[in-house]
Amino acid sequence: MKYIGAHVSAAGGVQNAPENAKNIGAKAFALFTKNQRQWFSEPLTSASIDLFRKRCEDYGYKPFQILPHNSYLTNLGNPDKEGLKKSRESFIDEMRRCELLGLDRLNFHPGSHLNKIEPEDCLKLIAESINIALEKTTGVTAVIENTAGQGTNLGHKFEQIRTIIDNVEDKSRVGVCIDTCHSYAAGYEIKTAEGFVRTFKHFEDIIGIKYLKGMHLNDTKKDFGTRVDRHEVLGKGFLGVDVFSMIMNDARFDNMPLILETPDESLWASEIKWLYSLEKEG
Ligand SMILES: [Zn+2]
Ligand SMILES: [Zn+2]
Repeated sequence: MKYIGAHVSAAGGVQNAPENAKNIGAKAFALFTKNQRQWFSEPLTSASIDLFRKRCEDYGYKPFQILPHNSYLTNLGNPDKEGLKKSRESFIDEMRRCELLGLDRLNFHPGSHLNKIEPEDCLKLIAESINIALEKTTGVTAVIENTAGQGTNLGHKFEQIRTIIDNVEDKSRVGVCIDTCHSYAAGYEIKTAEGFVRTFKHFEDIIGIKYLKGMHLNDTKKDFGTRVDRHEVLGKGFLGVDVFSMIMNDARFDNMPLILETPDESLWASEIKWLYSLEKEG
């Protein structure tokens, strides 16, 4: 079964996210558990945690349908010592927030080498950061998102994600999130049936489908291989519609959060409906 939703607002408290998801007819959702543009936020209150858990139960959102996203500031591969320390502390804090909310995965952008170290060394720093975070928490999987490869961001090649996983000690708690916009912008052809089959075969060969813990469903404002990350409304960008139909009819993407991060939130309800309409009978 497919679980589609969007990255909804948690303004006013995390407890508002399940409410916002329900209001757009979502069967999954993503959220920030703290202000995504600040290094540190106030701890979650027990009232807010309780209400979040109660609403998820009332509306039928199980942990595997929820994909929290970490803040944009962290760089788990930061070559600068101070920056790395701060990023690791912030990431552990986010993992703990997920624990408190009863969530089982946290999605993050792997990190950037900032032209100060070799990409390989940066990937190892990222893995080390994950190891530290996994050691200090329980029950939450660190979910690496593939990137468009903008600037010095790593994670735009499946091989880079594989290198990170290879260096993570507890492989039962590391996963991957594939973003359709990032994939295409990074040079993975998923627009045609042939390209889609080839790309996900490559994913299976290099990473392995068992690591896939969620997807971001976005069209792209920037063309193939541009390595620029600009999301577009489904069907309005360079990706077109076929890729979404292929995803909706492929059992490899069952039972995980499939999250819209498209730019016009007033369209989310209709984008969700449209995606479900692509499912063929049987
Ligand atoms: Zn994404
Ligand atoms: Zn993006």
